[in-house]
Formats: sequence, C-alpha cells, structure tokens
Amino acid sequence: MSNGSLFVLSAPSGCGKTTMVSLVMQRLNGISFSISHTTRSARDKEVHGKDYYFVNHEEFIRIRDEENRGFIEWAEVHGNYYGTSCQEVDRLLATGSDVLLDIDVQGALQVMHSTYHPVTIFIAPPSLDELERRLRGRMTDDEHTIEVRLRNARGEIRQATKYQYLIVNDNLDEAVQSLESIIISERCRTRRTLHGEPARYTHR
Ligand code: ADP
Ligand code: 5GP
Repeated sequence: MSNGSLFVLSAPSGCGKTTMVSLVMQRLNGISFSISHTTRSARDKEVHGKDYYFVNHEEFIRIRDEENRGFIEWAEVHGNYYGTSCQEVDRLLATGSDVLLDIDVQGALQVMHSTYHPVTIFIAPPSLDELERRLRGRMTDDEHTIEVRLRNARGEIRQATKYQYLIVNDNLDEAVQSLESIIISERCRTRRTLHGEPARYTHR
C-alpha cells in the first residue's frame, strides 16, 4: 500500500473552507483531517481533540521545540499560535489515507518547501463584501476579531498564486465538486495506482 497524499488548503477566514471540507469528507472515503494545535480559546461547540487540540502557550512552545520535529509547520495567525503535528500527519499518511491540512498561508509556504510534496489549494471568496457577510453571518466572532480577519484577508488572497490550485467558493456545490475532483485526480497518479503491483501486467 502506498502512502496517502498530503493536501494543503488555505483560505481567508470565513470563506467557507470548514464547510467545504466537511462536505467532501462525507462524500469521499479515505480522507483524514489533521487536527492542529492552537493557543486560541475554543468557540462554542468546538471540542478538544476533534476541532483542535487547545493548548496553552507554554505547552505549544514545548511541542514546537521538541527535538524530534514537533510541528511540520507553525505560525502566529490573527494573534494566536497554530501548528501541525508531525507525528499525527506521518501516522495518518502511513495508513494510506489522504490527509487534509487546513492551515494559513504562512504555514502552507513552510509545507510547500518541505519533503512532503503537498498538493496545494487556495480557496477564495467571490468578493471581500461577501467574505464580510459570511464572517458576520457565522456569528462566532466578536467585532474586533472580524476586523482583524478582514484586514488579513487581502494579504492572504495576494498569495493565492503560490498555490497549485485556486477554487472560488461562490456556489457551494460547485466549489465542493472542484475540491473532490482535485483529490480524485491525485488518487489516479501512477505513484498511487501502480505502487507495489507491477506484477499485474508482467506475469503473462
Ligand atoms: P471558514 O472555515 O473558511 O472560516 P466556514 O466554513 O465557517 O468558513 O463558513 C463561514 C460561513 O459562510 C458559514 O456560515 C457558512 O455556512 C457560510 N458559507 C460557506 N460557504 C458558502 C457559500 N458558498 N455561500 C454562502 N455561504 C457560505
Ligand atoms: P480559526 O481560528 O478560524 O479556526 O483559524 C484561523 C486560521 O488559522 C485559518 O486560516 C486556519 O487555516 C489557520 N490554521 C488552523 N490550523 C492551523 C495550523 O496548524 N497551522 C497554521 N499555520 N494555520 C492554521
């Protein structure tokens, strides 16, 4: 069995990435979501170990500085620390599952330059006005948080050209279909389809 592929997804906050990922995971088997560590406080309904590992600043720094590569990448985003655990990603990829990382642009740039050779996807909103409507409509963030996230959105969108794929999340169904198509295409690569079984074609 070959290792799964690593997919890096970034989007300005409020763009609909969480919504898209949860729909794709309902539709496709064999995908795991890597749960990040964060120093941000949990929102209502968020669960430790499901949405994030919520840790304090000291614990985050301890993992980051572990000798044996605690995080593949980490970054300060909107005033909080976030990081992706090496151990967790390596364990999931080794099961043959595809792994999705939902991380910001700074983190994505670190993974792009790593030995993981990820497939990188940027999700953009149809406009900044629509992004603001979605952030406000979600009703999970206070005014200050919304303003910081909107301010950061322009800079994030400017980095979209560094990614291999760009999906505009205007119509949700179409955006989810695009994301599914990228994942399915990656599964058809010869690395994945022929791995370990050339004998199927050479025994005659
Ligand atoms: P993110 O994870 O990118 O921060 P969410 O998935 O939480 O964003 O989505 C933010 C809000 O936008 C949610 O209320 C969600 O229901 C809504 N939303 C997501 N995609 C669309 C879309 N294509 N059209 C309209 N609203 C959307
Ligand atoms: P939120 O606080 O809304 O859940 O996420 C805020 C931002 O942090 C989003 O852009 C999300 O992609 C990013 N993020 C979540 N986990 C990680 C991570 O492990 N590393 C990095 N670099 N960014 C992350």
